[in-house]
Amino acid sequence: MQVLFGGTFDPVHNGHVVMAESLVKAFPRAIIHVIPNRQPPHRKSYVSSEHRLAMLGLAMEGIPRVLVNAIELGRDGPSFTVDTLRALREQFGGKESLVLCLGADAVRVVDEWYQPELLPELCHVCVLNRASQSTVIPGVLSSYHSTDTLSDLNQKACSLLVYLATPDIPVSSTEVRELIAKNEPTLPVPSKIADYIKRYHLYQGIE
Ligand code: ATP
Repeated sequence: MQVLFGGTFDPVHNGHVVMAESLVKAFPRAIIHVIPNRQPPHRKSYVSSEHRLAMLGLAMEGIPRVLVNAIELGRDGPSFTVDTLRALREQFGGKESLVLCLGADAVRVVDEWYQPELLPELCHVCVLNRASQSTVIPGVLSSYHSTDTLSDLNQKACSLLVYLATPDIPVSSTEVRELIAKNEPTLPVPSKIADYIKRYHLYQGIE
């Protein structure tokens, strides 16, 4: 089983780290791929891919079975999830269980993605709780079959939808960038990331 947790990670924060740790616990035999976007289709990123990748590597180091996967950084243009899923299907084969993990905020806008109707035949979906975000499953995912049993996802390659109760960590990258802009001394990021941001003067002067 390959579990996929993608995002802009601009920058990576404590919420992302706790989600990765929760996935490690929830999927005991899986590899957890943490996948930074090259160029978010819906918005710009604030620092280079190289910095975002370096910070992710620092934040995730030492968490067993978590792999920071730069698959989207090697492709030209925006990162479309269906392209990534197709590439991973080729790499791991048609029978491998692929689990796409999305925070409740991310799942709500899946119908705005490129070719979202292809998702059910490419991957399972695992929705992660996010503090103060209610979960709305868009119509484009209506052919998914819900299950309460995480281990069901081992039995098939794709097409199941599961919810994972994860700790509420009310933090976002937007908030981290705002705190930096206000010169707040304490950031909700791992200390290695705070040091990195300081060393390279990242996110300074962002409105
Ligand atoms: P931004 O504030 O810039 O939009 P973000 O904090 O939402 O960033 P992303 O890199 O866009 O971070 O998120 C990657 C994935 O992590 C998404 O699926 C998102 O829903 C999830 N996620 C981000 N923060 C949390 C959190 N605090 N708790 C649970 N899931 C989260």
